[in-house]
Amino acid sequence: MVMEEYDVLVVGSGPAGSTFARVVAEEMEVLVVDKRKQVGVPVRCGEGLGAREVVAQGLELPKHVISTEIVGAKVVGPRGEKIVWKDEETKGWVLERKAFDQWLAELATKKGARVRVYTRAIDIKKVEDGYVVKLQHGADEPYEVKARLVVSAEGMEAHIARKVGFNAIHSLYDVDTCYEYEMAPYNHENLIELYFGNNVAPRGYCLTPDTEIIAKNTVKPINAVKVGEEVLTLKGWVPVAATSERDYEGKIVRITPFLLNHTAGLTEDHLVYVWNKRNGFHWKRAGEIKRSIRGSHGDGDYLVFPIPKEENIEHIQINVPSSKYVKDGYIKENGYLRGKQLLKLKDIFKGYEVGNGRVNSGFFLMDNYIIMGIRKLETEHYKGKVYDIQSGGSFCPFFAVHNCWIFPKADKKANVGIGIGAHLLTGKKRGGLDGATPRTFLDRFIQEHSELRDASIYNDFGGVISVGAPMDSFVKDNFMVIGTAAKQVDPIHGGGIALAMEAGALAGKAALRAFYEKNFTSDFLYKHYEKPWRETAGKKMAKRLLLRKVLEKLNDDDLSHILSTIADSDLNQVMKGNFAGPVAKAVAGRPQLLKVLSALLG
Ligand SMILES: Cc1cc2nc3c(=O)[nH]c(=O)nc-3n(C[C@H](O)[C@H](O)[C@H](O)COP(=O)(O)OP(=O)(O)OC[C@H]3O[C@@H](n4cnc5c(N)ncnc54)[C@H](O)[C@@H]3O)c2cc1C
Repeated sequence: MVMEEYDVLVVGSGPAGSTFARVVAEEMEVLVVDKRKQVGVPVRCGEGLGAREVVAQGLELPKHVISTEIVGAKVVGPRGEKIVWKDEETKGWVLERKAFDQWLAELATKKGARVRVYTRAIDIKKVEDGYVVKLQHGADEPYEVKARLVVSAEGMEAHIARKVGFNAIHSLYDVDTCYEYEMAPYNHENLIELYFGNNVAPRGYCLTPDTEIIAKNTVKPINAVKVGEEVLTLKGWVPVAATSERDYEGKIVRITPFLLNHTAGLTEDHLVYVWNKRNGFHWKRAGEIKRSIRGSHGDGDYLVFPIPKEENIEHIQINVPSSKYVKDGYIKENGYLRGKQLLKLKDIFKGYEVGNGRVNSGFFLMDNYIIMGIRKLETEHYKGKVYDIQSGGSFCPFFAVHNCWIFPKADKKANVGIGIGAHLLTGKKRGGLDGATPRTFLDRFIQEHSELRDASIYNDFGGVISVGAPMDSFVKDNFMVIGTAAKQVDPIHGGGIALAMEAGALAGKAALRAFYEKNFTSDFLYKHYEKPWRETAGKKMAKRLLLRKVLEKLNDDDLSHILSTIADSDLNQVMKGNFAGPVAKAVAGRPQLLKVLSALLG
């Protein structure tokens, strides 16, 4: 039988391979092979795709490949800090990935490419003017085809790329092991949600048993609070997901705010949300809090208390030491305000609603919070039980980057997933988690999210994705590697579809040029594909990799602190790897961060 000959053989019909084939197919004879029986099946993907690359390639997605439109991204920190980022960069879709991959392959076939599924490239050998590749359909007898150019668009495995000598091996540190469920119902806001955090619950921060917590209908000591009970937090009423207790011996900080009769006893590393003149709102370790003294021009820290918005608050009371603070008719001398009166705080404390001008008054109102000075701040040695309650926050150990994600889909569905550094899935002796799997942590994340806890799971799968640096070389004579096979994947969130399409298009244009100029040497392919890639997408990826390394070095406290100092508008810059401004803000409130960050940022 005569050996089939092509100008180019593409191994893999994912977004990289199909994009490449679409770009070259009008001019070159193209064969695309894929070992899967059906293009795009099975789906192992969060299915999120930003609009930028699709628009850049002049494509318009047909309706059937889109599950839902995305208007922005929400980043949630270890203690529930939220930053919402909406701009051109965050517009996109959650796809129907099977339909999307099939649509991309169809675009290529319409331009003239041939696609052959259930056909695996099993071996390759160099010949003078190209390669001979051994293909096998199912378990049939293998056969050979010849091509001037071979393109590895094989995804993570990169079997053929390795056979010709590319370093496609992944270090465990640069691979995330992922697990994902498709779940419903989930009420979403058309935002991609990314959850970050390091530590396994329970965290090390706890309160003494006499510390009172405002629950619905009552105020009670922390050790009496039960799972499921709603407690007042900075986010409003939130159900308690878990409670914990432990023995503690060490320093305790007791804080009594200006308008409340309650005193909280906190371990010194417990984080408290405070306001001060210099840094505004931020998280601070209890042991580092400074007392705000009336008349001292506002130096020191103020505690932040949410102004209740709901009706069910008859049991909540604040003390007002003098009627001079309030509008006539609300309280008597040395009285208090409680229940529904609190809903009118802004009216009652008229004149105390601004920041700096009022910091000498012991309290003021700002951004729907009462900012209270500290009446008493004492430290003491303590030995006994301490307690913690969790109403969101940390859920997964050691792992900082795109810890968990929720990608919304149509019909109240969502892809809910987790990625964990593959090196952590080893035994404890090797620094790993000893038997824990990504699914263990995903299940825990879901349990801690009341909106997901009762949702059904329709689809359940695992996968691996590269989150390290791109491969050190993408070309050889008559050979190119593109997409995830070349480790062209975003190190922060593991997204690789857009990068695969970008590389597919760039490599396609380089291949056309090589075809016209009859020059498939590695130098030529480097000049027209690898070099421009490294100067554009490669530079962005390098910044994102640096950001990932920074995030991995931070503990939950630091991560919380940084997220609470970053404005929504700064997130765009941080995600692009431009840290200078936002980092300066974060370091101003926590000088000890400077060491970690300057070591990393150079
Ligand atoms: C759990 C998970 C969630 C993800 N979520 C997202 C997300 O939300 N957004 C995003 O952008 N990215 C996501 N990714 C990454 C994304 O799926 C990949 O980066 C993307 O598919 C890369 O496209 P590609 O064309 O390079 O490779 P692939 O899509 O992996 O395609 C490679 C193709 O090559 C075929 N192949 C491999 N070896 C051979 C061979 N020897 N012979 C023949 N065929 C072969 C395979 O069958 C496959 O079809 C996720 C990955 C995982 C694991």
